[in-house]
Amino acid sequence: MFSLVFSRRYAMAHRLIAGLSEACAIPHGHNETVTVTLRATAPARLDGNANMVEPFERAKSTWHRWIDGHLDHSLHLSGDDPLLDWFAEREPHRLPRILVTPGDPTTEVLAACLMAKLNAFLAADGGRLSCAAIRIEETPTNAVTFEGDPLAALPRVMRGNPWWLRADMSINDLAPVLA
Ligand SMILES: [Zn+2]
Repeated sequence: MFSLVFSRRYAMAHRLIAGLSEACAIPHGHNETVTVTLRATAPARLDGNANMVEPFERAKSTWHRWIDGHLDHSLHLSGDDPLLDWFAEREPHRLPRILVTPGDPTTEVLAACLMAKLNAFLAADGGRLSCAAIRIEETPTNAVTFEGDPLAALPRVMRGNPWWLRADMSINDLAPVLA
């Protein structure tokens, strides 16, 4: 079976408040690389003409538009983080740049949310491809990988239609939905 694999870099900041690491409770940033593996949902023989699963440009266009325009330079916070209230009161215009996760915004939960988001984009584009694996390099030496169903890996705090299930440009459920 063929796989399409591509990577993108972005800058982000986060903090982890659950108490396992005091160093990580202070907002800090990483330059991360996300690598995704896409496969055809209905694998088929090459057609002897175009001979490709899908043009790379088409497979990654929405995904990279979202990463470059919305994930890059975002701040990742737990839905329980009081900094969300601070931004809502003092700088509400910056809320669309805050990525909110159920519980601490670790690389693990980010991997599952990003894979679900990519699958939402791919489904909206006809569902010919789906994401089979994701790898996020938090630093050059630390990475998290995930394969399988991201919705089975995310915490059970689902309500409504969270941002990672929507094929829009949003990264949280706080602000009006971005087109
Ligand atoms: Zn960190």
